[in-house]
Amino acid sequence: MLLVVFDLSGTLVAHGDHGIFPRPFSHELMQFLCDAHDADKLRFATWTSRQTAMALKMTRAVFSPEAYKRLLFTYDRSKCLIHPTIRHKSAKDLRVIWSNYETFNITNTIIVDDTIDKILYSQRRALYIIPTWEETSKNDQCLLELLNHIKYRIDTE
Ligand SMILES: [Mg+2]
Repeated sequence: MLLVVFDLSGTLVAHGDHGIFPRPFSHELMQFLCDAHDADKLRFATWTSRQTAMALKMTRAVFSPEAYKRLLFTYDRSKCLIHPTIRHKSAKDLRVIWSNYETFNITNTIIVDDTIDKILYSQRRALYIIPTWEETSKNDQCLLELLNHIKYRIDTE
């Protein structure tokens, strides 16, 4: 079983002046996540450093109702380490996940994030760095590449 944890802003959505926009191919990603979840091959979740209300808006903007129901957890800023000496002032310590979900560890967790220096206690295999998406980038295909990567990881798990 593989766990994929998605960052939201810049990763799955763009938060611009005109609203919150899902990244291209998010529909395909949602369909794939639901299918893999129901085949018992995958669990997925979100972790954003935004506050709860914005986190919910962003999650609702990109996750289909079917995919939303299957989210293992939705972590927000309250689960981050907040400290002025941390570069982005907030950090995601992966051990928070592993202490709550014993099935998962460094070998079977992937964190998908556009600001990877926010991640603590990780290793290369657990990181999927995705270029930051902005709503003006209409031809972005990064979610298709990500989908293929997740497929590969499921097959080699
Ligand atoms: Mg981000």
